[in-house]
Amino acid sequence: MDFLQLVELFEQLENESSGNKLREILASFFKKVPIEDISLLTYLTLGKISADYESAVLGLADKSVLKAISVAGGVESSRVKKLMQDTGDVGLVAENILKKKPRTLVPVGKLTVHELFEKLHKIVGTSGSGSQEKKTNILVSLFQKSPAKGAKYIARLALGVLRLGVAEMTVLDALSIAFTGEKDKTVLEATYNICPDVGIIAEIMATAGIKGLQKIPVKVGRPIKVMLAQRVKELDEVEVKIPGKLAVEAKYDGERVQAHKDSKGKITLFSRRMEETSAQFPDLIEYLQKQIDAKTFILEAEIIAIDSEGNHRPFQELMQRRRKHDVASYVKKIPVQAQVFDLLYLDGKVVMDKSYEERTTILRKIIKKSKNVVASAKIVTDSLDTVDEFFQEQINLGYEGIMIKSLGGVYQAGTRGWNWIKWKKDYVHDLQDSLDLVVIGAFHGKGRRHGTYGALLCAVYDSKKDQFLTVCKLGTGLTDEMLAELPKKFSIVKRCPARVVVKKEMIPDVWFVAEFVVEVRGAEITKSPFHSLGLAVRFPRFLRFRDKKPEQATTKKEVEDMV
Ligand code: AMP
Repeated sequence: MDFLQLVELFEQLENESSGNKLREILASFFKKVPIEDISLLTYLTLGKISADYESAVLGLADKSVLKAISVAGGVESSRVKKLMQDTGDVGLVAENILKKKPRTLVPVGKLTVHELFEKLHKIVGTSGSGSQEKKTNILVSLFQKSPAKGAKYIARLALGVLRLGVAEMTVLDALSIAFTGEKDKTVLEATYNICPDVGIIAEIMATAGIKGLQKIPVKVGRPIKVMLAQRVKELDEVEVKIPGKLAVEAKYDGERVQAHKDSKGKITLFSRRMEETSAQFPDLIEYLQKQIDAKTFILEAEIIAIDSEGNHRPFQELMQRRRKHDVASYVKKIPVQAQVFDLLYLDGKVVMDKSYEERTTILRKIIKKSKNVVASAKIVTDSLDTVDEFFQEQINLGYEGIMIKSLGGVYQAGTRGWNWIKWKKDYVHDLQDSLDLVVIGAFHGKGRRHGTYGALLCAVYDSKKDQFLTVCKLGTGLTDEMLAELPKKFSIVKRCPARVVVKKEMIPDVWFVAEFVVEVRGAEITKSPFHSLGLAVRFPRFLRFRDKKPEQATTKKEVEDMV
């Protein structure tokens, strides 16, 4: 197909702001294009040259594109730069400059869409020494072969800024209208969820129609659109959305990965946005090779940063692994761990239609656990109190919250459904007033807090009965230095001191004389079967030590009035 035909389409799309019209214009275009060009035309209308997962991403530097314009137009680069400063649009610069091409430079022949596509691929694929110059030369030849109004779009394509307002879903809509006459794109969208490649879908629609889509299989090495989680306002809503038993997993704050191992043993990693991330995580690929006992698989995990002992580190540290250069040294600097949570394909078979329970049972069998590859923490329960306890534990461990999953739920690719519900710390707001609580004991620390206290057991004062009743475990807000000082500060006693009432679930590792009061900020007060007050402060954070007597601490009545 002649490139001019595509330019005419681009001009039409560029002048259109209605979504419906965009679809119709595209639909009538797709109807009449040659079948052999339809797939590449879908990519080009999106301003791309391949599906996202193939990593053929356009995006030359401004400098290179401007240089190519000045060479092709035979003008000083300062003039091109100035025009760019004035207009801010590389497309207009190209059109303006190339309106008057020097005749000697105009090559014979017409530019076809195919040639444009091939050359853009060539630009992306050129690397190594002298590659900038080679890329610019290819672009110069494209500019020279195109009319000025086409140069406008070539420049924008090369820079990765075509922006015609067309998205993948617009293309699917248009394909549906073109080849079925229907606006309903349900089937196309379902296909796109397991084959996120509009080029493949377009070709099949044009050759075999909608029935042909059924034959598109899940393919190892091609990402599947990830399943997403719904959210609720109150935890109680979970019971309505997922009746019966619930699986609850920790929600890790890292980077989602979909790992594919093909029959040749090659492992490819994709991000949540379906972009390939294999080059960033060569270490993870190695761990998965060794620690997943399967010939072929597609599994999902959250990648988190860890320290040398396997304790997790903040999200910001993991972000340093988002790099193209210096990967090897960052592999050493910032080790990672895969918290594996789902299985989509195993040894030649798709398992997405099996229940969560079946999928994760199989998954746990094929993981050879180590510091770097583990199955995510999980419980199964039908009690919301237990869900809440698990939530609290995950927050205390420094995680983001929990994922509540339907035991019978299938893996719904590309869908934000009720089979997964996320419940995060941020959903819970702070109490207005802080509380002054009496420290009556402590729990030994784990991980980074090994050898010191991990959390303090805190109580309110029941002025009527002259008793101390527990209300929370306090671990957040205490610095490592403070924790190291605490054993010296408190007077340890052998057994539960007089006037202190503790439920068996809350017996601390160490008892203290009830003498110190701490100011604590909490998120909310909820009922609790585990604390002797019958209520618990959720997400307590240490603010400071108070110079108060324990009997001057917040009272039972005060807390009850806050509920
Ligand atoms: P959000 O990004 O807030 O919509 O939460 C969903 C994301 O949580 C997923 O895309 C994963 O990257 C991440 N995640 C962390 N832990 C889990 C888990 N156990 N199960 C599923 N997703 C998880």
